[in-house]
Amino acid sequence: MWETPTLLGSALTQTMWTADEIARLCYEHYQTRLPKQGKPEPNREWTLLAAVVKIQPAIDQACGGANKPVQVTKEVVSMGTGTKCIGQSKMRKSGDILNDSHAEVIARRSFQRYLLHQLHLAAALKENSIFVPGTQRGLWKLRQGILFVFFSSHTPCGDASIIPMLEFEDQPCCPVSRRWASKPSEEASGNPETPEDEKNYEDLGSPVTKKMRLEPGIPDGVAHCQSLDNQESGPVPPTVSSSDVPTQELATVTGRAPSGAKVVDVYRTGAKCVPGEAGDSGKPGAAYHQVGLLRVKPGRGDRTRSMSCSDKLARWNVLGCQGALLMHLLEEPLYLSAVVIGRCPYSQEAMRRALTGRCQNVSALPKGFGVQEVTIQQSGLLFEQSRGAVQAKRADSPGRLVPCGAAISWSAVPEQPLDVTANGFPQGTTRKAIRCLQARSQISKVELFRSFQKLLSSISEDKWPDSLRAQKLETYHEYKEAASTYQEAWSALRKQAFGSWIRNPPDYHQFK
Ligand SMILES: [Zn+2]
Repeated sequence: MWETPTLLGSALTQTMWTADEIARLCYEHYQTRLPKQGKPEPNREWTLLAAVVKIQPAIDQACGGANKPVQVTKEVVSMGTGTKCIGQSKMRKSGDILNDSHAEVIARRSFQRYLLHQLHLAAALKENSIFVPGTQRGLWKLRQGILFVFFSSHTPCGDASIIPMLEFEDQPCCPVSRRWASKPSEEASGNPETPEDEKNYEDLGSPVTKKMRLEPGIPDGVAHCQSLDNQESGPVPPTVSSSDVPTQELATVTGRAPSGAKVVDVYRTGAKCVPGEAGDSGKPGAAYHQVGLLRVKPGRGDRTRSMSCSDKLARWNVLGCQGALLMHLLEEPLYLSAVVIGRCPYSQEAMRRALTGRCQNVSALPKGFGVQEVTIQQSGLLFEQSRGAVQAKRADSPGRLVPCGAAISWSAVPEQPLDVTANGFPQGTTRKAIRCLQARSQISKVELFRSFQKLLSSISEDKWPDSLRAQKLETYHEYKEAASTYQEAWSALRKQAFGSWIRNPPDYHQFK
């Protein structure tokens, strides 16, 4: 019984949209709906973009013929930009700071805001909510046919960014760099590359070409990198050439790509392994990184406790995107049907390994939970404010190209859809305002919790779900712990795959 909607969902996923359509929709939304405030300063800064897109069959499709293509509406329901996360010393017990402002995480928290609003509509018995009553008291379920696609302009930091580089001889157009540098039309049609595309790769500028010179006679895959100062996110090419690494050291990434080409090196991630994981060898060449490990976000100095985006996406693929609080009101977790990545250094194999491979054998999950077979695709379209695009446009402009320090959150909600932060607080917040608890982001833990409580207060107690009636709950921690199916699933996931996941001590969740 549980499988039916999922199977239907994944079958529809294949025919209802393309990766380029999703990317284009998100780029347009970014250009037209997000303010100038929080966007990168032209020619000097870049940022990352992520979004959740709702896919819904058009209303008059219900009785369409079998041969008719399914008409759908695609709508951006949440969006996030951002490249930073705070160090451990800046964390606060009041729940009012955003620890992690990578675009993916901002987009997901903005999505939770959208879900809260939709539950408000459902509880007020409005017809236009994405939720309809479930079978048990107080629980809601997603209206049939609705799917969510996650978009990210870049490969997520952490495990998915450990991308194999292939031997030049076997792959004259180095598929890793080619994939993101090729023209969209060629990518889509699968036409062979032309020599112009290789030039394109060098000209475009990007995480790959950043501070990197392609020396004459040296193939793409073993390009030299002059310095390695990308600690913000994303894959980075190695600092040394390593074409002569002994074969036995290549075990850490697949020794051969599906094409048969030999892996000669890997892109590097600045994301360090969490304590308790085996750790990287640091050896030159393809053996540099150990793959499949949990990592914290890249960053210098004050070490962060925030897990990499690869790890978080993998977790959402088992526990859903809704989090523990909203699970109180939902019959089933809300999963992403697909993840679409923009034009950037990319490996299908690394994405698959990072997002689903590590959890594929997790079993004994509570009813409704399951490891999802999320569709993973890449678009050929480049985000105009990505590092690669900005680098290409600025050519030899003086000064350093830096990541934008602000993060923009946008949710499809009627009140204050926008929320621009820097260092985890609304942009422009003074120290005094922080002390007075005046300033907090709409998507901070404490504000999402407040919205959740407001939602509960709009529902009469006799219509509350059992999980909330069983005991008197007060703190954020208590509410989260009382979401028993979610906690059961999370505990199974930790036991079977993510045992070293860094968890914040309970005293960080004691606020009310
Ligand atoms: Zn990230």
